[in-house]
This record gives sequence, structure tokens and C-alpha cells, in this order.
Amino acid sequence: MPLVDCMNKIQNYINGSMVAPKSGQWLDNFEPATGKVYSQVADSNESDVDAAVTAARNAFPAWSKTHATDRAAMLHRIADAIEANLDSLAAAESKDNGKPLWLARSVDIPRCVSNFRFFANLITGVESQSHNSDGMINYTLRNPLGPVACISPWNLPLYLFTWKIAPALAAGNTVIAKPSEVTPMTASMLGELCIEAGLPPGVLNIVQGSGSLTGNAIVSHDDVQAISFTGGTKTGKHIATVTAPKLKKLSLELGGKNPNIIFADCDYELMMETTLRSSFANQGQICLCGSRIYVQRSLYETFRDDFVSRVKQLSVGDPLEPASKQGAIVSQQHFEKILGCIERAKEEGGNVLCGGNAVSLAGRCENGWFIEPTVIEGLANSSESNQQEIFGPVVSIAPFDDADDAIAKANESQYGLSATIWTSNLNVAHRVAAEVESGIVWINCWLARDLRTPFGGMKESGLGREGGMEALRFWTEPKNVCIKF
Ligand code: NDP
Repeated sequence: MPLVDCMNKIQNYINGSMVAPKSGQWLDNFEPATGKVYSQVADSNESDVDAAVTAARNAFPAWSKTHATDRAAMLHRIADAIEANLDSLAAAESKDNGKPLWLARSVDIPRCVSNFRFFANLITGVESQSHNSDGMINYTLRNPLGPVACISPWNLPLYLFTWKIAPALAAGNTVIAKPSEVTPMTASMLGELCIEAGLPPGVLNIVQGSGSLTGNAIVSHDDVQAISFTGGTKTGKHIATVTAPKLKKLSLELGGKNPNIIFADCDYELMMETTLRSSFANQGQICLCGSRIYVQRSLYETFRDDFVSRVKQLSVGDPLEPASKQGAIVSQQHFEKILGCIERAKEEGGNVLCGGNAVSLAGRCENGWFIEPTVIEGLANSSESNQQEIFGPVVSIAPFDDADDAIAKANESQYGLSATIWTSNLNVAHRVAAEVESGIVWINCWLARDLRTPFGGMKESGLGREGGMEALRFWTEPKNVCIKF
């Protein structure tokens, strides 16, 4: 399949066709590993969004009435097409985002296939609720909402994009979707695959462009009935203020500053190997990465020395090299932000135990945006470094005394997305899991995912849940029907 057209222009997918933005304006798209522009992406405006919404509105009556088994079959066809193009999608994701190719190939793109297959299967097994009482039967219809919007970030580009689109389509909605302008490539390829798979025109529309122009036009559009957004807390709050007066349904998956709580009685080797991943996978640019590591005091020094020596061995390199454990940071702006956060941590009294610097690579990556995995200790729990999301390869470590202390430290945060707990004591594990303020808790594991479970955060990490039936509930309107006899 062609990645983009011969001019390396990433177009919109609207009403079943790949089309240029009406304004003729394009934005530069960079390869983070080289720091060079390698394509251009449509800089869509209100009229492109309006065309997408019109297409979605026109497609809605037929798609919403399509039998669930037929919608499921279509989603499976899209999953087949993604599977058949796994290598080219993984290569495009790695080039666009800077993540190691092996990671895109083994995690990101296979998960896109799972997202479509999972919701294709789920929609065919949905049951209706019924409430019976004296002389009455109530049953609940769940109807799709209409044209809806999915907006996703750059860190797991196609993975999070399809996590939203698949349930929205499965439930019978038509969709206007926007990927991040920073990583537009695989979303565009998805559009081409939908054409190949025979998705009816207008059922899915992918509008490329910036958040401030394209994203804002989508969320403000009167005919968009609901919005599922994943991104930063500040953007989520802005979208909430734009959509509240219009009473649009809203799901927000936002930032995090996740605690990783390590008790001395844990399975040490499993904890250590997993903590390396949960700290630095995807250069720490996963909303679920544990960025505040709390270690029980009796284990603290052993952990610190061992962890730092293993972090030093994580190779930072060309995302195309199988040996690179760490790839590039997604953009120059984000690269500079992370380095600024490290400087701020030093000002706040943080002691950088390893990392802390940009990495210069030779050859094709000499101008790429790479940062050493960084471990910092000595920061106050209330410091900006421990409170603000960095979203990069930077973690802080600190000791705690007992479960009460660990819970207090973990909960001293505006965020509440996920937490990880390491202990062999079941009582401690359950108690901390119950009291830690986060939407997702992993005990003795990290990023283990069952797509049926509720996914999302509390506090400033979000509003609502994705995953399984939670997603299908969000994407449908319940209607109670009461029969008296
Ligand atoms: P942003 O909030 O900057 O952007 C997210 C998406 O929203 C992008 O597509 C962006 O477009 C778009 N956008 C920006 N402004 C607007 C607007 N005014 N109206 C509508 N859309 C807009 O987040 P990042 O892309 O920087 O992603 C990183 C953030 O995402 C981190 O905070 C991370 O924690 C969070 N995240 C949360 C997850 C969760 O499940 N809770 C999962 C993954 C990430 P563009 O990029 O083109 O400007």
C-alpha cells in the first residue's frame, strides 16, 4: 500500500476518499530520530471538519441500522488489513514517533488489530438490561449517538486512535477522528486500509491538523454528539469548557504522575526487570509509566544502586536498530521540555544519579532528539518535579517507611491514573490497592491488559472510563422502555 502520495503529503480521509485540505495548507512532519522533515500533513480548517461531519451525518442512518454482526465483520476486515500491513505500519510508526521499530512491531500495531477484533466480538454479545416489578417490565435500548469524535495523542499513535475508533464504530456511530499532528502517518494509512476493506464512505473520517485549529473545530461542531479525548489535562479541561454549554457527552483520558510502590518483601528480580520497563518503555512516554518510585527503606539502597547500574545499560540509539532499548523523543519541543524539567529538578535539590543529558549519536541520527534515561533522588514529594507530568525518560526515587507512608506519598498528587504495587503480602497489596487514589492498580505486574476492564483515571487524570462495556456504554444512549400489563 502507498504510505502517502508521491509528494509525501498526508491527506485527509473524508467520505471514503483521500483528499487534500481545502485551504491547500500543509504542516511539516518530522522524523524524530533524524530531526528532519520527511513529509507534510494536511493543516485542516473548519471547512474540512465540516465536510467530515457532513459525511458522517449522511452515513449515520445506514451504518447505525446495520446489523451488529455485519458491523463486526467489517471491523474484522479492517483488522485483517492492519495485520496484513503490520510491517509497513510498524515502520511508519517508528519513523513518525521515534519509538524503536521492534516495539512498534511487537506492541503498537498488534494492539491495533486486537482493538478492532475485541470490539467486533464484543458488539455481537451485548445483552440488554431488563428490570421487572409489579405489573411492569422495563427494558433498556442502547442506541448509537450519531456523528462522534475521537481525538488522540502522539505517544501511542495508532494504538490509542483505534482504541477509540473501534468501539465507536462497533456501537453504530459514525466517526470524525483526529490524530496528533506530531504523528499523523499511521492514521492516514488506516484511512487507506479502510478504503481497501470496503468501509462505507463517511462511516470513518480522519481529519489531520493541529489541535488549536482542527481539533477545536471538531469539538466545537454542533453536530458532533460526543467526544472521546486522550491527551494532556490542560487540553482536556479546555475541551470540557468548550463542550459543556453544548451538553456534549465527554470522555477524558488525561495525564498522570504514577506511583510505583515497592515493598521489601517483593519478588525482587521480577520487580526490577518490570520497573525498568515501567519507567522507560517508549522513552517514558506512556501515560501509565511509573514516574515516582517509592521503595521501602530497608530495600532502598540496594534497589537504588542496582537500578541505577541497570538503567545505565539501557542503550539509546537509532529506532531501527534492534539493540536500541530507547529511541528518540517525539519532537524537538518535547525534547526541550524534558531537558528543562531535568534542570528544574536539579534546582529543586534533586541529585541526578544517572542520565540527565541529551545523547548525540553519529550517522543518520546525528540531529535526532535523544535523552539518556534519567534517575533522580532527593526531591521533596511536593516538589514541582514530583507533581508535574514530565512524560519522558525521567523518574524520581525516594524511600518510604510503611504502608501508611507509601499511601500518603502516592496520594499527594493532583493525578490519579495508575499505580503499581510490589509485595508478597496479600493483605498489604489489597489494602494499598484500595487506598491508593488511581483508576488502575497493578499488583506485581505492569501494563498487563485485559481489554474488558475499565480503563481510565480519577482526579485530574480523567473523566469516565474506556474499555469493554464501559466504552460501549459511553458510545450509546440508554433508553428505558416501560410496559405495564
Ligand atoms: P495534547 O493534549 O497536547 O494533545 C492531544 C490531542 O489533542 C492531539 O491530537 C492534539 O492535537 C489535540 N488537541 C490539542 N489542542 C486541542 C484543542 N484545543 N481542541 C481539540 N483537540 C486538541 O497531548 P499530547 O499529544 O501532548 O499527549 C501527551 C499527553 O497525553 C500526556 O499528558 C499524557 O499523559 C496524555 N495521555 C493520557 C493517556 C490516558 O490514557 N490517560 C494515554 C496517553 C497519553 P495536536 O497534537 O495536533 O496539537
